[in-house]
Amino acid sequence: MTNPAPDTALDLDACRAAYADLKALGLHLDLTRGKPSAEQLDLSDGMLSLPGSGVVKDAHGTDVRNYGGLEGLPAIREIFAELLGVPAAQLLAQGNASLTLMYDTLAYAMLFGVPGSPRPWSREETVKFICPVPGYDRHFAVTRELGIEMITVPMTPDGPDVEAIARLVADDPQIKGVWVVPTYANPDGSTVTTEVAHRLVSMPTAAPDFRIMWDNAYALHHLTDEQTPSADAIGLAAEAGNPDRVIMYASTSKITFAGAGVSFLGSSPANIAWYTKHLGIQSIGPDKINQLRHILFFGDADGVRAHMRRHRDILAPKFAAVEDVLSARLGGLGIASWTTPKGGYFVSLDVVPGAAARVVELAKEAGVALTPAGATYPHGDPLDRNIRLAPSMPPLEEVRSAMDAVATCVLLAAAEAAAA
Ligand code: PLP
Repeated sequence: MTNPAPDTALDLDACRAAYADLKALGLHLDLTRGKPSAEQLDLSDGMLSLPGSGVVKDAHGTDVRNYGGLEGLPAIREIFAELLGVPAAQLLAQGNASLTLMYDTLAYAMLFGVPGSPRPWSREETVKFICPVPGYDRHFAVTRELGIEMITVPMTPDGPDVEAIARLVADDPQIKGVWVVPTYANPDGSTVTTEVAHRLVSMPTAAPDFRIMWDNAYALHHLTDEQTPSADAIGLAAEAGNPDRVIMYASTSKITFAGAGVSFLGSSPANIAWYTKHLGIQSIGPDKINQLRHILFFGDADGVRAHMRRHRDILAPKFAAVEDVLSARLGGLGIASWTTPKGGYFVSLDVVPGAAARVVELAKEAGVALTPAGATYPHGDPLDRNIRLAPSMPPLEEVRSAMDAVATCVLLAAAEAAAA
C-alpha cells in the first residue's frame, strides 16, 4: 500500500479508493487477543519432557504427585519472590491462571469479607470498584459478574489518575477497591511510578477494607533495555501502615505456556492467611508436577530473565513494525495518536472521537479482526476513540500488513468524519 501525500491523505475519494484496494487483497489477519505466538510457545518446549520419568520429588523431598502443598512448592515461590520483589513466605504459587486468583479473591470478599471488613461485601447495600480506563476487559467482566459497580478514572503515563482515585475513596465507604496493572499496563503500556504507588497505598479510604488488585501480569515482559522495574507496592503499603491494602497477582502465562503456566498471589501475611484459609476448603493443593517442571526448566530467577530476553527478541520487532507503519501512514496528520510501549503486549491507538467503532468495522470488512471498540472500558468508550492493538500473535510480516490495513481504515474513518 502506498502512502498518500500529506495534503491528499484525508481526501475522501482517495481514502475510499485506497480502502477498495485494501479489500481486494482479501486479507485474513487477527490482532484481537494478546496471546503469545507459536514461536514464543516453542521457547518453552523443553518443559514438555520435564520433570521426566521417575522424577517425582522436589528438593525438599515432597512427592509432587500427591495431595498437599497448598501454598505451592517452595522453590517456585522463591524464584518468583525474587522476580516480583516480595518475600517468598508472602507469595502463593497456584494453577495456570492468575485471573482465577483475582476472581476468587473478589468472590471470597463478597462471601466472607476480607481482613478488616465489618461484614461480607455482599451484605453491603452497594459495592463499588474503581476501574482505570482504558483497561483490561476481563477485570471488568469479573467485577460485573460479581455485581460490583464500576467507576472509571483515566489512565495517565504514570498509571491511574491517583488524585481522582484519592478524591473518590476519601468519602465513599462503598468503594472497596481499585484495579491496577502496574507495569506495562493493558492496553496503554504505562507503568505506575513509585510516587503514584506510594499515594495509592497511603491515601485515606472511607472503606476500612479497601483493596488494590495489583495485577502485575507484565512485570517481566520488557521490550527494551530500560527494563522498567515495578514499584514495591506491598512493601510501601506496609511502611504506610496499610499492610493489607495490596494483593499482587502474576503468572507465567506469557513466560512459558499460556494454557499450562503457574500463577502467583502475593500480599501481607494476614491476607495470605485469609486467602489460604478459604482456598484450603476449595482445594487440597495445586498442580505441583507443573510447578516442578517450571523449577527444573528455569533453575533460578536468572533462568527466567534469560528466557524473557528470548521472548523480547521475538516481540520487539513486531512492536517496532506497529510503530513504523503507524508513524509512516498516520504521523503528523492530527487524526490519531498511539502508545510506544517499553513492555507488555499491547499498543493503545486513539483515533478521532466517534470513529473507533467505524475503524473496527472497516477493518473487519477488509479481513482484519480488531478488538471491539469500547472493550477497554467497562461501559463502552464514551468518546468512541480507543482501539487496542495486540501484535504478539501474528508473524512479523502479517503484523506489518495488518497495521497498514488499520492505517487505511483510520484514514478513511477520519475522512468520513470530516466530511459528515
Ligand atoms: N492480567 C492482565 C492485565 C492481562 O492482560 C492478562 C491476559 O491478557 C491476564 C491478567 C491473564 O492472566 P492469566 O493468564 O494468568 O490468567
